[in-house]
Amino acid sequence: MSDAHCDVAILGGGPAGAGVALALRTQTRRSVTLVERASDDTPRIGETLPPDARLPLAKLGVWSGFLRDGHLASRGTASAWGSATVGYHDTLMSPLGSAWHLDRARFDASLRAQVAERGGTVRFGTTLTGCESLGVEGFRLHLSHPSEGPSTLRARFVVDATGWKAEFATSQGARRQVVDRGFALYGDFRLREGAAFSTHALVESRPEGWWYSALLPGGRVVVALIGDGESLRGVRPGTPGSWLSLLAHTTATRERLAVCDFTGEALRAVPATVGGLDRLHAEHWLAVGDAACTLDSLSSQGISTALGSALMAAEALEQHLQGHPEALGAYGARVRQGFVEHLRTRDHFYREERRWPDAPFWRNRREALASSALAA
Ligand SMILES: Cc1cc2nc3c(=O)[nH]c(=O)nc-3n(C[C@H](O)[C@H](O)[C@H](O)COP(=O)(O)OP(=O)(O)OC[C@H]3O[C@@H](n4cnc5c(N)ncnc54)[C@H](O)[C@@H]3O)c2cc1C
Repeated sequence: MSDAHCDVAILGGGPAGAGVALALRTQTRRSVTLVERASDDTPRIGETLPPDARLPLAKLGVWSGFLRDGHLASRGTASAWGSATVGYHDTLMSPLGSAWHLDRARFDASLRAQVAERGGTVRFGTTLTGCESLGVEGFRLHLSHPSEGPSTLRARFVVDATGWKAEFATSQGARRQVVDRGFALYGDFRLREGAAFSTHALVESRPEGWWYSALLPGGRVVVALIGDGESLRGVRPGTPGSWLSLLAHTTATRERLAVCDFTGEALRAVPATVGGLDRLHAEHWLAVGDAACTLDSLSSQGISTALGSALMAAEALEQHLQGHPEALGAYGARVRQGFVEHLRTRDHFYREERRWPDAPFWRNRREALASSALAA
């Protein structure tokens, strides 16, 4: 069994994990190992980045590389929410420039390549299978790779960037507090040769949930329905018929897809959870990105928030390692404050949609909002 060690082990090579690794390698002399379960070419839904994502990308020193990576500049978001009329949130006058539709696999791969270029170790296809506390010396992590087999990694500090499941933090006793347990079913369309398509992302609410569609680089158009277990009962990823017939009842989404063809491939289902951990750190670990707080995908803020929290996390953990005991607490308080503000904004938007009060999706959201307001 091989044995290796580093100052900071980062579990999860999404934007949050890669962001922490980049910040540490740029701003400190810490040795960093980034452990990513997926192989480099795992397909991902293509997300939208708001214009302000430029700020953390620039701070991490990857903005010019981002511009070379072929992501699609977007003029913003259109939405039919609360009424059938489509409204626009246009980025035309944004001082930070356009929004972006990501080639997400390329985005993540570029960030990880930068980590390696700056002297970090990146281990792909490697999964955390267990860990032992070494007291003041941190942790021994047990890892597994399909062809290389099991290995161990000793780290003075561990960053949990494993996404909404927060696999490491929950193994250390932190608990996930789930605000919303939705899921998304998404499929791909292709834009016909020579056809025009708006670069606005479109959100359209319907009785069963809300639809999201966006043109991605290379003429791929991603279409997602965000619902919950009750509103999407019987809608199966392997047989897209019922998803397509719900899609046929939309208005603005159906109209824009008139110049596209469904690829016919099976749909993909992904959790669309909203929630956060009750503890964001301890003496030898912290959680970052979705692992710390998972935002509603309606906001399109998940990636920029993950990058922003990665910068804060790297700074706090460096101060902590230099003997400032209050640094992690201050980090946790800032992340939690941001999440509380997000929940307030989210409440406001869900209350704005009043057209289907008895449809399960909207009834469930309303009841959850009422009980979270009560808890607050
Ligand atoms: C339907 C939907 C639409 C969305 N749309 C948008 C959008 O338009 N704009 C936006 O900004 N955000 C959007 N988001 C949110 C965005 O995808 C997340 O906020 C973002 O990916 C969080 O980054 P992260 O690095 O924290 O986590 P992730 O991107 O989830 O990365 C976690 C990584 O950890 C790895 N991992 C997990 N467990 C282990 C383990 N045990 N060992 C090793 N590695 C592990 C995973 O393979 C993964 O690569 C959307 C989310 C959903 C569900």
